[in-house]
Amino acid sequence: MNNQCMVIRQFSNTLFFLFLVPLSIQAQGELSNIVILATGGTIAGSGATSTSSASYESATVGVDALIQAVPELTELANVRGEQVFQIASQDYTNERLLQLGRRVSELVKSDDVDGIVITHGTDTLEETGFFLNLVIHTEKPIVVVGAMRPGTALSADGALNLFNAVALASSADSRGKGVLITLNDEIHTARDATKSINIRPNAFSSPWGPLGMVVERQAYWFRAPVKRHTVHSEFNIDEIDKLANVQVVYAHGNLDDTLYKEHQRNGAVAIIHAGTGNGSVSSHIFATVLGISQSGVHFIRSSRVMQGGFVLRNGEEDDDANGWVVSHDLNPQKARILAAVALTQSRSAGDLQRIFWEY
Ligand code: GLU
Repeated sequence: MNNQCMVIRQFSNTLFFLFLVPLSIQAQGELSNIVILATGGTIAGSGATSTSSASYESATVGVDALIQAVPELTELANVRGEQVFQIASQDYTNERLLQLGRRVSELVKSDDVDGIVITHGTDTLEETGFFLNLVIHTEKPIVVVGAMRPGTALSADGALNLFNAVALASSADSRGKGVLITLNDEIHTARDATKSINIRPNAFSSPWGPLGMVVERQAYWFRAPVKRHTVHSEFNIDEIDKLANVQVVYAHGNLDDTLYKEHQRNGAVAIIHAGTGNGSVSSHIFATVLGISQSGVHFIRSSRVMQGGFVLRNGEEDDDANGWVVSHDLNPQKARILAAVALTQSRSAGDLQRIFWEY
């Protein structure tokens, strides 16, 4: 049996229930038109056996097979698929982010598209989601979805996650809430959600909690994002040719200054300091990073604290005196995305700080 057949067989255990769905669901009005942009990841992965839940190959199943494996999608929307990439998400580059963003931007401008679902590897899903949240000008729902188990595994989570994503993308209540992420029945804003465990289906969490839940195709909302996004954003994919070169350095005890100097030499326009605790800077690297920031490379203090690293401006470091920026509550990888978008034009540290407060 080939991989795609295995996926379909695993997902089709829900086929039986199709016959129990009342026909009235389809008669409740016109179905939305949803485009599924497939990019790879575990949701498109396959393993050697049904018990291979953690060792498998990601990005092997094509978008048409993903859609066919969840026939219930046709109850929710008119769904069509496009294969944008077939990659593991650690292979995303700035160029790929821009390519995906441009396709999303084209699609949302089309009158016959009501919402977008992006299937994605979970490793960098939060970065892509946040990027789209910053640069796509639309109120139409954009939902990024992944899975923690390949479709060939026992208790694969991809089919229900995809079903929930299409349910969200086709719901009027999702409009205007920015880019959403769903896994494990939860709805998160792409700004906040982060992969916080890599071995369980509840892999994503948000430091300030999920926005809601999807239960039996119905979205239940409890809060909405207040930070600027999509139609309220000053950034627009249609005006971006190239993202800025922003690099992250992870801090730890006995840290030396080599990487900061290397990134400066290689042309980084900003360095995200994934600092300990409140984004602290060790005294033995202080002179180096101050010199780098005074030479014009932005120094952005973030925190390596996994859940809710919140960096207080002028807390443990004198950011005003040093000309530094704090990432607010954005983790280092999200801070990189925001700085890479914001620094597509040169900015003062003060303007960059404003952006970190507002987004
Ligand atoms: N590392 C792969 C990726 O991010 C697989 C992980 C996953 O999708 O859960 O695409």
